[in-house]
Formats: sequence, C-alpha cells, structure tokens
Amino acid sequence: MPLSLAEVRSLLAGYPSPPIVGTVGSHSAIDVADGAVTEGLSSLILAEAGRDATYARYFRSVRALDGTRKRGCVDDVWTFRKFADIVSPTVQARLRSSGVVLVPNRAFSSYVPLSEIEDEFRVPIVGSRRLLRIEERSERENYYTLLEHAGIATPRKIPGPEAIDRLAIVKLPHATRRLERGFFTVASPSEYQAKVERLVARGTVAPDDLATARIEEYVLGPVFNFNFFFSPLVPRDQGLELLGVDERRESNLDGLVRLPAAQQLELNDSDRIPEYLVVGHGTLTVRESILEEVFRMGEKFVDAAREQYPPGIIGPFCLQTCIDRSGRPIVFDVAARIGGGTNVHLALGHPYGNALYRTPMSSGRRVALEIRVASEEGRLAEIVT
Ligand code: AMP
Repeated sequence: MPLSLAEVRSLLAGYPSPPIVGTVGSHSAIDVADGAVTEGLSSLILAEAGRDATYARYFRSVRALDGTRKRGCVDDVWTFRKFADIVSPTVQARLRSSGVVLVPNRAFSSYVPLSEIEDEFRVPIVGSRRLLRIEERSERENYYTLLEHAGIATPRKIPGPEAIDRLAIVKLPHATRRLERGFFTVASPSEYQAKVERLVARGTVAPDDLATARIEEYVLGPVFNFNFFFSPLVPRDQGLELLGVDERRESNLDGLVRLPAAQQLELNDSDRIPEYLVVGHGTLTVRESILEEVFRMGEKFVDAAREQYPPGIIGPFCLQTCIDRSGRPIVFDVAARIGGGTNVHLALGHPYGNALYRTPMSSGRRVALEIRVASEEGRLAEIVT
C-alpha cells in the first residue's frame, strides 16, 4: 500500500526546512544535484560501488574554509554494494534522520523492485510513487491505458505478427541486458519470422519474450521528448509547465544513419539491424505552431493521471513522442518522473523553462525550487508521496 497522507505528514514531522535533496546516482542525478545547490539546498547521491566516481570525485562539492562553494554540486554521497540496498530498514532510517526527500529517477525504479518502493520504502518521494509502475509495458494497466484514457494519440497497436501490414516496431526487453531494449522493426509477417531468427541467433531477443512483446505502428518522424513539470502548489490553470525538449542518441542506430547508403549496404548482416541503446541526448525546440497541441497533450495527461492515480502527477514528467507527417506528436513512451534526457539543459537551463522563469531553469532546478517553496510554505506534504 502506498503511504497515506497521514503517514507522509508524520514522516515529514521531524524534517529540516528545507530538506536534503537525494537521488539515485545515475540517469539525471547531476541535473538534480545541480538544481538543488542552485536553489541553496543540499544534495545527496545514493550511488553503487563501481559507478560512484562521477559523483564522489568528479562532481563532488569542494568548499573554501568559510564554507562557500568553490566547485561541484554533489554535497554528499552514500555508496552501496547494490542500488537495491537503498530500501534496507537501516538505510531508510538514516535517510529519514538526515531529512532526505528522494527524487525518483529511472535508475531507482529499475534497480529497486517496484513492490518494495510501493510497500516498504518509508521515505518521502518527491512525485507520485504509484505512477512509477505505469512504465512497465508488461503490466495490464500501464502508460498505454492511461494515454488512451486521456485521449492522447499513441502508435496504433498491431495485434500480432500475422497482422503486420506496414512498418512496425516490436518492443520487448533485450535477451540478456534485461533493463535495455531488444526492439526491432519489421514490415511484414515473413520479415518478422526472418528477423526473429537472426536476432535470437545474435542474442538480442529471447524467444520467450515474443509472446508478450508489444507490436505497434512505427511512426516515421523525429523523436521529441517533452519535459514537463506539474505543480500542485499553484492554481490548476498555472500548474502545467513545458521546460524543454530533448532527443536521444541510440548506439548503433545513430551510427547507421550517419553512414551513406552505399556503406550501409556493405555492412555485414547483423550490423544492419539497429539497437536502441540510449547513450546520450541532444536538445531541441519545436516548431511554434505545434506547441498548442503539446500543451493540450500535457493537460490531458495531468487530468487523466489525477483521475486514475490520485493524487496524480506531481513535479517533472516526460512525454516521449515521434512527430508524424502532419506535425502531430504521437506518444510512444511516458516517464512519470524526471526524464532521462534533462542533463542537456544543465547550466544553460531549458529554453522554454528559461522563457518562463526569466532565469536558467533546468528540470533539476525546477524540482528544487518546488521543494524549497513547498518547504517555506509548510506544504511539503503536498508534493511528496
Ligand atoms: P522507448 O523504449 O519506448 O523509449 O523507445 C526507444 C526508442 O525506440 C525511441 O527513442 C524511438 O527511437 C523508438 N521508438 C519507440 N516506439 C516507436 C514508434 N512507435 N515509432 C517510431 N519509433 C519508436
């Protein structure tokens, strides 16, 4: 059972004002730490041994004798053998006694079992704990059902391999790297069979995953990930903000499209099939006439999430879209927490966030601003679950 409002209030009772901003050391952690210290809060990174140097050494805060910050944005790092150790009772107690609120990211919800986050993690989470599960495509109720309820356009679902009648993308986990994608594209039932054989032989696809794979229309168009923020602290009509837009760089997919056609044809067979391993991000703005639809989409999502998963979306969220040939964003994925590409706006802020706030406003800073304001107004319980 998620924490009740009364439990959240009692957890926050002994908290300092403002609290410490904690996050798991991966994904968007630098953005969150940078945002926290920009807003005058302290940052804590929960890291895993072997992947902690980024935070513990390279972005670590260094202060002068009088306490002023000379460099860095990571004020404290706690390193664990495994990320999943974060939910142990002793770590939870330490997080609470240190006054930490946790900003969830995809590393947190991937490496810590969702059932433990939902039922056992008694530490205030900035955002909606319940909504983390909608990202799991294997769940019966997931982001597709929420988008459908919201009336937001999604890629057409294809019921099975035999019904593939156009370019489609097959979505399933990677055979061995289970947190990564084993996606592939196909345009006909016969191509599906041939490609499955090749991908199983290559070790990208596990045959057992095929029965539950989602097959959907491939939207031919550029990827635009819209990084929104929703604040429950202001009147509803001011709650939704668009901060910025990012796109991804996906390992050999991007390598392939950078090759001229003649060279692509010279590649050996297995190199011709792209993999969708996200390795970085770039920043974008969107044609201005498309913005109205983007805001409409964001509003619909906020309303539907409030209705289906109260209290609904709180803070940052990301709608990942391909923009189709008519200029309409089609949502193929949702992050009901900070998106994975927000580091592109570190230091510079997001273009749209800056236009709104008249100062560099990244997603991380916007989260910290919300925590600071909620804390000053005694309303922290309204932004955590
Ligand atoms: P996802 O894991 O859903 O975030 O998708 C990973 C990548 O697959 C995206 O960044 C897109 O490049 C691609 N993708 C996913 N769904 C679609 C779709 N329906 N049409 C076109 N590309 C897609």
